[in-house]
Amino acid sequence: MSAPRPETILIRGADVLTMAAGDNPVPRRADLLIEDGRIAGLGEVLPVPDGAQIVEAAGRLVMPGLVNAHLHSSEMFYRGRYERMPLESWLCWSYPFLGSSPVDLEMLRLRSLLVAIESLRSGVTMISDDFFDPPTQDIERLGTVFKAYEDAGIRANVSSGLMNLPYLDTLAHARDVFPEEVQAQLDFPLTGAADYAAFCNEVFQSLHGRGNGRLRFMLAPSGPQRCSIDLMQACRDFARRWQVPYHTHVLETRTQAVTADKLFGGSIVRFMRDHDLLGPEVLMAHAVWVSDEDIALMAEAGVSVSWNALANLKLGSGLAPVRRMLDAGINLSLGTDGASSNDTMRLFDVIRVAGLISTATRAGPAQGLSAGEILQAATLGGARAAMLSETTGSLEIGKQADLILLDPSGGTAFTPSSDTARQLVYGENGSSVESVMVDGRFVIRDGVFVTLDEAAILAEIRDRMPAFLKMHETVEAANAFLVPLFEEVIGRCDGDRLSTEGERRLPC
Ligand SMILES: [Zn+2]
Repeated sequence: MSAPRPETILIRGADVLTMAAGDNPVPRRADLLIEDGRIAGLGEVLPVPDGAQIVEAAGRLVMPGLVNAHLHSSEMFYRGRYERMPLESWLCWSYPFLGSSPVDLEMLRLRSLLVAIESLRSGVTMISDDFFDPPTQDIERLGTVFKAYEDAGIRANVSSGLMNLPYLDTLAHARDVFPEEVQAQLDFPLTGAADYAAFCNEVFQSLHGRGNGRLRFMLAPSGPQRCSIDLMQACRDFARRWQVPYHTHVLETRTQAVTADKLFGGSIVRFMRDHDLLGPEVLMAHAVWVSDEDIALMAEAGVSVSWNALANLKLGSGLAPVRRMLDAGINLSLGTDGASSNDTMRLFDVIRVAGLISTATRAGPAQGLSAGEILQAATLGGARAAMLSETTGSLEIGKQADLILLDPSGGTAFTPSSDTARQLVYGENGSSVESVMVDGRFVIRDGVFVTLDEAAILAEIRDRMPAFLKMHETVEAANAFLVPLFEEVIGRCDGDRLSTEGERRLPC
């Protein structure tokens, strides 16, 4: 089901928060004209063009749709399942090594729709989905994800993520800890750079640009320690040629930082720089354990960072040095990460937590992030990270109309109303979102989905979940014996001193 896009829409008398670079994050009363999907006018009182659909928006706050810079749709059915585990043991459950088989195409469709529904409902109009679907790269499966997002009406960069080095070689001490017979079980055959490049070529020819350009393919080699250099350089070449992100995980945990010391003799970021793997196309997820030298290199190269503040809290990964990254000139965006480490796609939750964490250890006029900076990361910063700053992320003439209408009088978060930006950051949770427009088309209008049958999709997922979770329980049981081994690896890494041990690793 796909609603036609009206040619001309006039949103009238709204309080508009543009989030354009240089604009104060203060709403102003304005009309917004949308023609053929683009913002064609923004001004105090605009004339009504012939045949325009008029949306009376007095009392409504209109702002750019939020951009979720990092998630994994693959985790969507695992929400609420895990707690109190560090990344390396959590991976045994969320990305099981043994006995797991991919969900069928219908489940894949439903899972992707669930990501889109929850995102759009809470005001997110653009997602970066690092879709991870081992063991193979499969165009039909990736196409199913694309189709679900196309039908839902969301804007998305979607990868087909991979790693191609033996996992145990990507973790310090693992070869010493894991018994040989277990190592043999975990050493899978791996995808070569040439095979992956052929797959990417096919995706760029067939899927990239679907949905009037809303759906794009991005490259997502899992992390520099997990991929061969030829694979990463092939991904970089695609990213530069197609102007899409090179999305990769960097220094999420202390265990990874210890590993980087051993594998790269120190800075993994310097390793990337030395292999021409840094540039404005690079979107790093996490960057929790980056050093001062790393921050300087990232800023110089124009790298973006997805700060996944809430997921980092849940997995005990640490606090990213966001104030220093921003001060260095690094573009900051916000991500939920997957539903197995968060456990929702509501970016407003991350926004609030980001604000609070930024002053967790120190508050003062020079510390923390302002509400304006956090909203910027959630909108234009996300668009930049997605390499779509000319398309989305702010309300400016010429950009595609990706926007949300909030009803501040619909709940209590804005009663009384004092400072819109601060109340959006510290009080809003997405429940004030009333209507959502992507690419000039309403996907949610007055609280109702236009593009899909939300209730039927959610009911179908609920029906299928008991059988799915029963199967997943057997997978969990098959992988349970690995957990103490990974805990031993983490413990040994905890005992190692980092080469940058003395540096501050706090948000401000
Ligand atoms: Zn991730």
